[in-house]
This record gives sequence, C-alpha cells and structure tokens, in this order.
Amino acid sequence: MSHLELIDIDLAFGRHEVVRQLSLRLEKGRIGCLLGPSGCGKTTVLRCIAGFEPLAAGEIRLDGVTVSGARTHVPPERRRIGMVFQDYALFPHLTVADNVAFGLSSESAATRRERVGELLGLVGLAEHGGKYPHEMSGGQQQRVALARALAPRPSLLLLDEPFSNLDVELRERLSYEVRDIIKATHTTAVLVTHDQHEAFAVADDIGIMNQGRIQQWDTPYNLYHRPANRFVADFVGQGVFLPGLVLDEHQVEVELGTLSSAIPLECSVGCSECGKSCRVDVLLRPDDIVHDDNSPLKAQVAHKAFRGADILYTLRLASGAKVLSLVPSHHNHCIGERIGIRLDVDHVVAFRNEAVQPAREAVIQFVA
Ligand code: ADP
Ligand code: MG
Repeated sequence: MSHLELIDIDLAFGRHEVVRQLSLRLEKGRIGCLLGPSGCGKTTVLRCIAGFEPLAAGEIRLDGVTVSGARTHVPPERRRIGMVFQDYALFPHLTVADNVAFGLSSESAATRRERVGELLGLVGLAEHGGKYPHEMSGGQQQRVALARALAPRPSLLLLDEPFSNLDVELRERLSYEVRDIIKATHTTAVLVTHDQHEAFAVADDIGIMNQGRIQQWDTPYNLYHRPANRFVADFVGQGVFLPGLVLDEHQVEVELGTLSSAIPLECSVGCSECGKSCRVDVLLRPDDIVHDDNSPLKAQVAHKAFRGADILYTLRLASGAKVLSLVPSHHNHCIGERIGIRLDVDHVVAFRNEAVQPAREAVIQFVA
C-alpha cells in the first residue's frame, strides 16, 4: 500500500479545469515532486492533498485512508500534514524557538523544549532559538519553516516552491540540505517546483506536469534519458531534435550517421507504420555528441557558453542544423572553427515527425 495515493483527481475553478485525471502514488519515506511550468496546477494539487480544495472527482488516500473523495472530506487540521511555503510564513512576533514549537501546543512544556532543541539542531540552527525571524537570512528562515513543519511529526510534508525566494547558489545548497533533513526524519514529502535542478536535487520520484496532467511520473534518470513525449523531452534537460529516417527495426539514420539499437524498435502507440522509412525526430542531448579531434566527422562552432569545467558548444552541421555538445573546457575552440565530433548515443529517443506524417504522437525508443 502506498503512503500517498491520488486517484484520477479532477478540480476546476468555475469552468477552468485546472487538474485533470491526475494520479500518483508515493511510497513511505520517499520524496515526490511535481515539476512543471508556472500555472500548470502544481500548487492546486498540493492544496487538494492538504485538504484546502474539495475535489470535483477522484480520490486522495493517505496511508490507505480516504481523506478526499466523493463522500469524504477530512479537514486540513486532521490530516497531519506539514507545509512549507515559498515565503516561509513564519510568525514575525514569535522567536525562532516559539515558531518551531507552534504545532506542539498539546505537548508538555518539557517535551516541547526537547523537540524544539532536536529540530533546531537538525536544521543547523541550535544557537538561534532566541532570535526573531527578521534577524535571520532567507535561507535560515526557510530552515526554521522546515523545522516548524516537521516538529509535530507530520504524516506527510508538502513543500511549495520552497527555494524560489533564495539566490541561485544558496538555492542549490539548501536543496541538498533539505533533502538530507527530510530523509533523516524518514518523512514522506511532496515538493512542487518549476525548477528542474531543485527537483533533481531533492526528489526520488518526479512527475512532469503540464496543463493539469502528469505527463510522466518517473526517476530523474528516466525523465532525462527516456522521456515519454515531446513535452517531457523539451522540459527536462537540454537537447535538439534532428530529422531521422528509420532504416529497420534496429536502426535510424540521422545526418551524423546511423544510430543502432540492440532491441527491436518499440513504438508507444504500437503502430505498425512506425517501421522502415518512417520519418522521425531524434533527440540528441549535449552529452550524446562527443568532441574528438581525430574524428573525420566535423561541425562548425556556432556558439559557445563557458561553464567552468565544461563548455557547451552549439555546432552547425553541413545541412545547417544545429546540435549541442558538452566538452571539457580545456578544449577551447573559436567560433567558426570546424571541430571533430562523434556520436555516443546509447539510447535513442525519437518521435514521429508530425510535419511529414501528421498522426498521433508516438515515441520510439531503442536501447543499445
Ligand atoms: P502552479 O502552482 O503550477 O503555478 P496553480 O495551481 O497556482 O499553478 O494554478 C493553476 C491554474 O489555476 C492557474 O491558471 C491559476 O490562475 C488557476 N487558479 C489557481 N487558484 C485559483 C483560484 N483560487 N481561483 C481561480 N483560479 C485559480
Ligand atoms: Mg504554484
């Protein structure tokens, strides 16, 4: 039995359908994430889980018990859910320790003190209990908010864009810290964010959301290497599509050569047309194209972005099509220079080329 289950939930504001037939399962102790563009319905899903929005249809179960459904609506305060928001939402007139103690009013003073000490230690703020929120940095305030949400030992922790108010460097560091803290307390959590780096840093399982639906619920590895559709392929990571021609059920040809696979071509809609001569768009990530001075295959440097350890080159092919290549930065080539490249693709992802053969969306996956 999963710890959290959303089964085909629907929600609309008036006529505006915001969440459509959304399902997910999260096992106990795991951190799930809804990742998607602004306005796709992430916060609304969290509010449904917390009990602030009644569902139009579907069901939400926590630990096997229905908390939202056709005939059930357990109020938010009885769901044992902790929440962390983007703006921290600390009580400004309470000290840090009193903020953390806020959800512990039914405990004895001694238990409260002990638990507050434990949590402040866990979030690295043991010495700051007597301060007020305005005396702390943004990152510290967010750790206080996390300690406050975890103090009553919630059954589930919800985090809504918790790092968006922080600068980039701190965001990354804090996201790893927050993951460690959540894991140390064995709490099951759902994070929502529009930032894939945050999602990858914190979550075990990620659902890519678009227009109220989950497009793919998977591990970060599979979202990047085995995107279920074009939206996921575009949203997660970088890459370009090159036109390809399916040669047979094991091979697809692109401008840079023939990509081979060991298992037969597999099409997500199982259509028989996706065979020989099918026109596809092949996804090539920056790590699929390797710079190799000795390769006879050349491409011209059109643009370069220095990233410290690596340079992300945009390379122009003979046809004019462009591809990306991530290269160790000591290979410092000039714009306009022609450099050797080779393909290093171990898993081919291709989508039907709709312009050539308008039809249902199909995904073709090969494994080397
Ligand atoms: P996200 O968190 O992914 O940015 P939201 O869940 O906040 O998206 O919003 C999804 C959509 O629902 C948006 O179009 C938003 O305008 C709309 N929406 C959110 N809350 C309300 C509300 N209380 N009343 C009407 N529309 C709402
Ligand atoms: Mg939101």
